[in-house]
Amino acid sequence: MYVCSKCGKVFADAELTFVRCPYCSGKVLNKQTPPTVKKFPAE
Ligand SMILES: [Zn+2]
Repeated sequence: MYVCSKCGKVFADAELTFVRCPYCSGKVLNKQTPPTVKKFPAE
């Protein structure tokens, strides 16, 4: 999943033809990893 830092749209990798936002053509995309993948040590 990617998040456009320009318009805030979230889209899957499959929607990407190029590395840019399909909605606003913004090039600044932030890779969003599912929270379940990240493991933080529990206190
Ligand atoms: Zn965008």
